[in-house]
Amino acid sequence: MSGGAVQVGEWAKIVGVEHSPPETQRHRAELVGCLALVTGAAPGDSFAYVRLSEAVLDGRAGTPRRRWLVAWEDLTYEAEPVKLVPLELGYQLGAQGSGRGRVSHAVEYGSREGAERAVAVCGSGVKPLFIDDWPLPFSADDQYACAACVAVYRRG
Ligand SMILES: [Zn+2]
Repeated sequence: MSGGAVQVGEWAKIVGVEHSPPETQRHRAELVGCLALVTGAAPGDSFAYVRLSEAVLDGRAGTPRRRWLVAWEDLTYEAEPVKLVPLELGYQLGAQGSGRGRVSHAVEYGSREGAERAVAVCGSGVKPLFIDDWPLPFSADDQYACAACVAVYRRG
């Protein structure tokens, strides 16, 4: 297999469908360029089971279909995408300070990109963090997480 770098449990980009089964090739337009999690190796070493990061419509069935069989050769390794937390779940990450003095706070979603200041759930003034348009999620496992924010987060 060419790419060779992708393994089960890793994220990959579908860069083509030329080596994939005919069923997959018929959906070239929707699939090429998609990110997918490699969930298993099909018998015979040629194909991988993948789960798309976004539902891709199966034109014939008319229902979102996420699982596909793709040739290893049609996949290239991609770093795991930033986990996007649905807006109704969890909190956005807000930072205070930097480096070792950094503290991570939880901010209610709704802060817009470019917003310089927001108020964390513990009452601290923080800077909401984004990657492009996406707010970074607050994680209670963050070693710099604010204890008061973690307590609010855990209460749900
Ligand atoms: Zn806090």
